[in-house]
Amino acid sequence: MDTTTGLRTIIAVHSTVLGPALGGTRFYPYASEHDALIDVLRLSKGMTYKAACAGLPLGGGKAVIIGQPTGIGSDDLFAAYGRFVESLGGQYITAEDVGTTVANMEIVATQTQYVRGLTIEHGGSGDPSPATAHGVATAQRAVAAMLWGSQDLAGKRVAIKGVGKVGMALVERLSRYGAELIVADVNTLATDIASREYGAKVVDTDEIHHVECEIFAPCALGGGLNERTIPELRCAAVVGSANNQLATHDDGDRLADAGILYAPDFVVNAGGIINIAAEEDGYSPEKADAMVEHIFDNLIEILTTADRLGIGTHVAAEHVAEERIAAVAATEAQRDPGT
Ligand code: NAD
Repeated sequence: MDTTTGLRTIIAVHSTVLGPALGGTRFYPYASEHDALIDVLRLSKGMTYKAACAGLPLGGGKAVIIGQPTGIGSDDLFAAYGRFVESLGGQYITAEDVGTTVANMEIVATQTQYVRGLTIEHGGSGDPSPATAHGVATAQRAVAAMLWGSQDLAGKRVAIKGVGKVGMALVERLSRYGAELIVADVNTLATDIASREYGAKVVDTDEIHHVECEIFAPCALGGGLNERTIPELRCAAVVGSANNQLATHDDGDRLADAGILYAPDFVVNAGGIINIAAEEDGYSPEKADAMVEHIFDNLIEILTTADRLGIGTHVAAEHVAEERIAAVAATEAQRDPGT
């Protein structure tokens, strides 16, 4: 708590085994400090797994600021927040997230070097959404290769729930690949664009998860895969960008029991963090694109691990992340047995 600016924040550093803990700053009016703490701990753990599965030299962290994001008049608050980030000496690196903007991060950057995802003009990598969409499409190609023996998505029916920043960039990319697109969004302006410019078929938001298709891509909010919706799915695979798609861990098993291949969300949607990681030693879109393409092999490794061990893909992803972290921790312990 910073009494001068009223800043109430929690930074959670879940792991620094693979590198500094990178994760965005969420600004949200939590009902209580306890709720904020639970959220930041859960999110920071997710970032550890996401970075590890993506093969990045980064740990996992996240920050929350408790309150209503106001935008106007919050510069002092973000400057105080920047000083707090700086005080951690680089253990934690921040970026934007729900409720914060690149403009806020530019204020943070006046106080600390440990911030990423600034605009390209300020030496950053800009909006991560196109890179996230590139990663989702790459994951869909990997799933196609596993299921149908070819990564070609031409003619494959892909149903996309949510055509916002990531969903629309995915629509654009998949239309170039020749996929057959079905979309739904509560925002009809967005579905109009998807239909008019990319030839997507539009359906209702409560219909999209049960249209017949090869791939269902949740790109709106999390929690959409649950006890009620899973029996209604008529897809071969779920591959989308939304965070926390499974309402509960059991829903991963439920998908497997229904014969649906679930590509774990934090593996599929790592394009954004990979884009940020590409800022190291100078950002270029070409370098970032090449790094995002690694999602193909990362996902294949997880899907084959799940097959080999007879476990759910969501469990396999955690397993692969934990193995990578343990291997690095063991090497470090050998190098420096005193710590
Ligand atoms: P966004 O807010 O730009 O888009 C979300 C879209 O979903 C909006 O168009 C919204 O109208 C729509 N939507 C909301 N509720 C809906 C519903 N019930 N049915 C259908 N559509 C609905 O967000 P985004 O940046 O595109 O992110 C989409 C998802 O991907 C989020 O879960 C986000 O956490 C995740 N994600 C995004 C990034 C990124 O780089 N932006 C990175 C990793 C994960």
